[in-house]
Amino acid sequence: MKRILIIEDETVIAEVEKDYLEASGYEVEVAESGVTGLQKAINEQYDLIILDLMLPGVDGFEICKQVRRVKNVPILMVSAKKEDIDKIRGLGLGADDYVIKPFSLGELVARVKAHLTRYDRLTNQARPADELHIRGIRIDRRARKVFVGGEELSLTSKEYDLLLFMALHPNRAFTKSELFEKIWGMDSLGDLATVTVYISKLREKIEPNPSKPQYIETIWGVGYRFNL
Ligand code: CA
Repeated sequence: MKRILIIEDETVIAEVEKDYLEASGYEVEVAESGVTGLQKAINEQYDLIILDLMLPGVDGFEICKQVRRVKNVPILMVSAKKEDIDKIRGLGLGADDYVIKPFSLGELVARVKAHLTRYDRLTNQARPADELHIRGIRIDRRARKVFVGGEELSLTSKEYDLLLFMALHPNRAFTKSELFEKIWGMDSLGDLATVTVYISKLREKIEPNPSKPQYIETIWGVGYRFNL
């Protein structure tokens, strides 16, 4: 699922945009200040950023400039003033598109969709599917690293293998013996209790509340399932 970051200090606008984009099939996060927005934009992975220009603290101009130094993610700038849009163009900050408030939500989604498609075309040739995004979790397959909410987890090699395998086969129940065979191999030492132990270690690391797991669900009488 594509992840979108909305940087917008007006809560009502942010919420309306979020609801509409979520209903259109996107995963959406909102940052209500320039500082938080900039941090998220730089440290986390998004497929597109909707950036309001007038923000307290760090404004949209500055955010756009700083994000562009390190990322190619499409940036859709939003402003209430036509003059601002001209200014953005003039500054050559590298925003991909501009919309003037008030705009229709249908128009916003159409622009978002167009930029995501274009960006996919550009990056798919250069970048294989080496990153997985599952809600707040990001798996970087090249580096064998996992991030939750932008923070890197410390995982053992087998914990990583188990998480990656399940994340690559979401919404499907696996028995403990299937998982054991996949990750440890049939002839290795250990038994099915190993799987239970590793699942609970993983839950402690990735789940906001390990006793009520959202990602790795127990399917009673079967085994486990990774939920998208
Ligand atoms: Ca604003």
